[in-house]
Amino acid sequence: MHEDGAGGQSTPPCEVCATPTVLRSLGPADALTECPACGHLGRDLARCPARHRDLAYGGDPGLDRARLALTHRALVADGPPASVFEIGYGGGALLRRFLDAGARVGGADPDQLGVEVDEEVRRRGRLWAGGIETVPEGWFSAELVAGVHVIEHVPDPVATLRTAASVLAPGGRVVLLTPAADSWGLRRYGSDWWMLEDPTHVRFFTARSLELAARRAGFDRVRVDRLVLDSLSVDVASVARRRGVGGTRGVLSSRGVLAGVAATAPLVLGLRALVPGTRPTLRLTASVG
Ligand SMILES: [Zn+2]
Repeated sequence: MHEDGAGGQSTPPCEVCATPTVLRSLGPADALTECPACGHLGRDLARCPARHRDLAYGGDPGLDRARLALTHRALVADGPPASVFEIGYGGGALLRRFLDAGARVGGADPDQLGVEVDEEVRRRGRLWAGGIETVPEGWFSAELVAGVHVIEHVPDPVATLRTAASVLAPGGRVVLLTPAADSWGLRRYGSDWWMLEDPTHVRFFTARSLELAARRAGFDRVRVDRLVLDSLSVDVASVARRRGVGGTRGVLSSRGVLAGVAATAPLVLGLRALVPGTRPTLRLTASVG
């Protein structure tokens, strides 16, 4: 533990590189821990409540459907896989898409959201109802191991990456998407950053900390890039939070916010295309050997 000079509060070492962390204040009531070496951010909910919503799920079903196609595209950039394992498959919508394309599918999910799983995925997929760290050796072998906005939630991200590596078929790749701590969102919006609305977001990676975590988990070919087409709602949702919209149900429960997302999408996408630092999502692509 490290004593922070200003507040005298102790902070844990960086979970990725073990460097002593410091507190990064986001406003009067909120502070994250920040690693001075790799920039990794840790969130203790007691120290950074950031007016979070009540439930882990704060999406919108309409936006989720639009997002599915974009997410699928982001995952198959290196070619369509014959087998897919998804960490945190939720309702199975993404696995269903791969299943319909002829892939063999499997996944692990502790069912924190308590959602119904797609009937076909349940019938034909090899599903593990538990955290990724508890998946038994040899449970599945996949050309693509995918995790869409999941590694910011798990108890131990390096352990998650290690298990992901163990599920990989020879020549396969892991592709993970996660909010970017080093995008402009947090600097611009502080406590109002939409990524803080989810109370189960307990860390935010930088490109550097994500690469380091993957290397620590045993991956030797690691690439991190930033997506233009993901989390389209983050800017409008952050501004809405600043204005006090949404309350404990989350800002995407507001029709006005959804309309704002649609109206500003061309502007937001244009900015992201021009300025990579505004892209809110990191994509990790990692393989072994
Ligand atoms: Zn670090």
